[in-house]
Amino acid sequence: MDDKERAERYGRFRLGEDEARRHREWLDAHRREAHPDSFTDPFWGGAIAGTETFSFTPTGLGCIVKARCFCGAEHDLTDYESW
Ligand SMILES: [Zn+2]
Repeated sequence: MDDKERAERYGRFRLGEDEARRHREWLDAHRREAHPDSFTDPFWGGAIAGTETFSFTPTGLGCIVKARCFCGAEHDLTDYESW
């Protein structure tokens, strides 16, 4: 795989619409359950936030997408139906 192919394959990791919906639904529920202060504390997550990490794992069938909260909770956002 040359650099151009590598850039096309790995250079644009984004959430699809279904993954974005799953993320919003999970994050809302997770914050309500694990971080209720996050809705009222303007400094929750620190001055520049950064409370989440996303991972993208390309496979031969599709891309596995996960979101992880700073507390360690993780949720699989993968749109397996599109594989
Ligand atoms: Zn959390």
